[in-house]
Amino acid sequence: MRLFITGGAGFVGANYARWVMSHSDDDMVVYDALTYAGNRDNLRDLEGDRRLVFVKGDVCDREGVAEAMAGCDAVVHFAAESHVDRSIVSPDAFVRTNCGGVNVVCDTARRLELEKVVCVSTDEVYGSIEAGSFTEADRLAPSSPYSASKAGADLIALAYRKTFGLPVAVTRSSNNFGPYQHPEKVIPLFTTNLLDGLAVPLYGDGQNVRDWCHVEDNCAAIDMVLRQGLPGEVYNIGGGNELANRDLAARLVELCGQDESLIRPVADRLGHDRRYSVDTAKIQRLGWRPVWELDEALAATVSWYRDNRWWWEPLKKALP
Ligand code: NAD
Repeated sequence: MRLFITGGAGFVGANYARWVMSHSDDDMVVYDALTYAGNRDNLRDLEGDRRLVFVKGDVCDREGVAEAMAGCDAVVHFAAESHVDRSIVSPDAFVRTNCGGVNVVCDTARRLELEKVVCVSTDEVYGSIEAGSFTEADRLAPSSPYSASKAGADLIALAYRKTFGLPVAVTRSSNNFGPYQHPEKVIPLFTTNLLDGLAVPLYGDGQNVRDWCHVEDNCAAIDMVLRQGLPGEVYNIGGGNELANRDLAARLVELCGQDESLIRPVADRLGHDRRYSVDTAKIQRLGWRPVWELDEALAATVSWYRDNRWWWEPLKKALP
């Protein structure tokens, strides 16, 4: 199978390209605009493999997408503006890329009659939940411009199924972490600060809860949805590792050999969702289970950032 992987130079997309390379004989076109979040270094170890072709392009560019997608069998659509804080400062790019991009990708896949499209989304589309976990049947109630644009993208993708019969499925994953995550995101930001003995900014009272999923577990789940998921269906993905941000910070402090005095409370994020939690029974029925255990996965991740300063130091210098 020849895959069209949008956003494959970003964090999850690059890990997914690596996953496919090591778990299948498939080849792929990685299509990515190389925004501030896209980075050819994320694919450096795959460069030179003839199964991967990289095309620089914007998912909102119909001609560029059509040209690059021609000859592919299936799409895994990761390309997005992905940082909630940036969406609060300037939402326009989020609506453009996340809603406009999915429309172009689905419409092009429909015209080219591709076999399968997977649109990669987030648990944030459900909004906050005090107790229990959201199932795929729950209503969407996004809080930030980021999550609202992703909810819009999900609905656009699913409309292509209902209206045109496009064989598209949607995945909604909880927070990912692992190698090659941009250092603006909380785990790499805290880890790289702590490795340098710097303070880490903790939003509000630190009691906001996230469910952490190692990126390889998410990639395995996305791949399972690509190959076995039913068109028109939504699949929640989660690591089953709920943790308050304060506790996450404390674990990273310990793993980096630092002192908790480096955890500094700062003003809360606007519209900050209190807790995310998804019910993953549906994808588990396909046979997926997360294999990473949280403490082991956090330790491996901290080690990766400790060993790969060449990768994150330039990105951190470029942060606004
Ligand atoms: P990322 O910001 O690391 O990567 C996004 C990639 O998309 C970058 O390579 C960027 O260059 C590319 N891109 C952005 N705009 C583009 C455009 N207009 N045209 C083409 N390419 C463009 O994001 P990520 O964390 O890898 O997230 C990937 C996907 O997974 C997103 O759709 C995101 O919503 C979803 N997701 C991520 C997480 C997470 O914790 N990282 C959790 C759930 C869902």
